[in-house]
Amino acid sequence: MAVWNLGSINEDIVYSVPHIPAAGETLAATQMRHYLGGKGANMSVALARAGAEVRHIGAIGQSSDWIVDRLSGAGVDTRHIARLPFATGHAIIVVDDAGENAITLFPGANAEIPVETVQGALSEAKTGDWFLAQNETVLQEESATLAKDLGLRVAYAAAPFSAGAARAMVPMTDLLVLNAVEAAQLEEASGQGIADLPVADVIVTRGAEGCDWVTAEGTRHFEALKVEPVDTTGAGDTFTGYLLAGLDRGASMEEAIELAQRAAALMVTRHGTSDVIPDIAEVQAFRP
Ligand code: ADP
Repeated sequence: MAVWNLGSINEDIVYSVPHIPAAGETLAATQMRHYLGGKGANMSVALARAGAEVRHIGAIGQSSDWIVDRLSGAGVDTRHIARLPFATGHAIIVVDDAGENAITLFPGANAEIPVETVQGALSEAKTGDWFLAQNETVLQEESATLAKDLGLRVAYAAAPFSAGAARAMVPMTDLLVLNAVEAAQLEEASGQGIADLPVADVIVTRGAEGCDWVTAEGTRHFEALKVEPVDTTGAGDTFTGYLLAGLDRGASMEEAIELAQRAAALMVTRHGTSDVIPDIAEVQAFRP
């Protein structure tokens, strides 16, 4: 089956600076690097590297061919990424010598995804495919409604947390993935415990402590692999991509979680985001 990912796409532009600039200060950066980022793009790369057939639904500006090349190079179907007369979503990140950072995020085209792009993509979807969304785009609710009508299963990563988006998405969600902070925010916003949500399978990730699988039958805890983390960016996105890829190819939840935790543990031993998301062979061979 295929995974249809309504996902954010960002260009992360990282400047190395001697210190974080103060208000009114002009400061020369010593280095600039740019990366493909955005939770949606990260999840698509993780899904593809895990071996899933992933179709990205999203939008970028006119002059971002390198992003499409990067995604298709990873094995992502990019036919449903619209080119719009807006800036590509981007993050301006300054990092000082001590590793402290400041980030300005501009959603750009992610906030302008046309409903026709979603409709055109999902018109090719088949019953039993998965639809995936997170909160860095628009149209999650409309798209999930359409996906449900078409007989797709809905996976939702409630990140970054938004009470409004969660309220709309949770009733349509078959698989909910969120980290411990987002789980607490959802319980606070909904006035319901995670176990009482109307979602068949909820996965709460807990960083180095692993994750919990919450169903109507109860909660099962899975220990994380023991590694020396150097950079935890993208751990959650890698986990979600591998989890869904596993379920999509018919693995049991236990098997899918085991592989997702293995992929995410390997990911935290690497610097970087989408560029360094491991592929399935690396994940299977990983012995921490
Ligand atoms: P997020 O990146 O969304 O905040 P988490 O920090 O909960 O998500 O991490 C997601 C998953 O990545 C965890 O469930 C775990 O499997 C793995 N992981 C994250 N940090 C570590 C770590 N320090 N050691 C081993 N595994 C980790």
